[in-house]
Amino acid sequence: RFMSSVPSFKASDLHIDFCPPEQLKSKPAVKDLVFGRNFTDHMLKIYYNDQSGWGKPRITPLQDLRLHPAAKVLHYAVELFEGMKAFRGVDDEIRLFRPGKNMERMNRTAARSSLPTFDSEELIKLLKKIISIDQEWVPHTESSSLYIRPTMIGTEPTLGVQRPTEALLFVILCPVGPYFASGFKPVSLLADPQYVRAWPGGVGMMKMGSNYGPTLEIQKQAEARSLHQVLWLFGPEHRITEVGAMNIMVFLDKGNGERELVTPPLDGLILPGVTRDSILSLARQWKEFTVSERDITMAEIVQAKSEGKLLEMFGAGTAAVVTPVGEIHYEGQVIKIPTMEHENPLTQRFFDAIKDIQYGRVKSEWTVPI
Ligand code: PMP
Repeated sequence: RFMSSVPSFKASDLHIDFCPPEQLKSKPAVKDLVFGRNFTDHMLKIYYNDQSGWGKPRITPLQDLRLHPAAKVLHYAVELFEGMKAFRGVDDEIRLFRPGKNMERMNRTAARSSLPTFDSEELIKLLKKIISIDQEWVPHTESSSLYIRPTMIGTEPTLGVQRPTEALLFVILCPVGPYFASGFKPVSLLADPQYVRAWPGGVGMMKMGSNYGPTLEIQKQAEARSLHQVLWLFGPEHRITEVGAMNIMVFLDKGNGERELVTPPLDGLILPGVTRDSILSLARQWKEFTVSERDITMAEIVQAKSEGKLLEMFGAGTAAVVTPVGEIHYEGQVIKIPTMEHENPLTQRFFDAIKDIQYGRVKSEWTVPI
């Protein structure tokens, strides 16, 4: 769990500067929420430096950061982040969903980013605290939630291309609306093999900001062709790896009544998604079809489509839980996928099963009350 030789910060050292009542912001209507545009009243900050280690955690009013223009983050992209959510359940209880998974991933990314690690349990305690302070920001409507963005940056104000000796961990919170306000809309994907997101020996499995900046121009190219997202391919055999900032899942008919759910293995190119892991666990409990973590190529997708065996394809991630895929634009072809056209699509079943847990309709060890 705690991988550093540096002692962690402690939640019990927390200091709170409450936002004065006259500065509290009014809460936007759920229908006006656009992802990542509205922030709650408070933030969490914890400074680190090599001499004195982690400082005391502080919750303060949301405020701008002050950084020296030489801060390493601004030059060498020494940055990582996480994305997780808190949900107001049908019983009005606020719950986190598998927060330990995000904390493990954050610590793995910190270690690879030459940023300091910390005790996951201590940050979970602090998240519970800041969410309870800003609890009125957790939407009261089902399908909306509070997005949590833990972030860490290298702040040492020197230009040497060396690991930072100073860092800042901060957490900001955003109320977010439903991704699919009026039912699922299958998305269209651009699969262009000339671009890759991650490569062997690289950091595709880490949640570093430097993995995301270079994808934005390719996303723009997809949008210029009126497509929704990018399907990231890899290698001469055009393996499918991820879709946008989601893991990818494919549901195949294997003939003679057998079916298979396929997702690429965690081989270093794939971000180990919490949603991916949750879907695999549910599918393995259900025992209705084969569950495979294996490579899958565009040739296999095209072949399955031509044989009528490509049943469903969907992205999996915290933002929307699942995002059905309707078509892939690949080397001049348009591959149509009937993801939501079956009776009782698997995509919908995973969505419902995970939402039931997140909103407290189904009790599960995956939820942690604040
Ligand atoms: N892949 C990438 C590249 C991502 O950025 C994300 C979002 N964290 C995911 C997959 C899905 O991960 P999770 O289910 O933990 O949100």
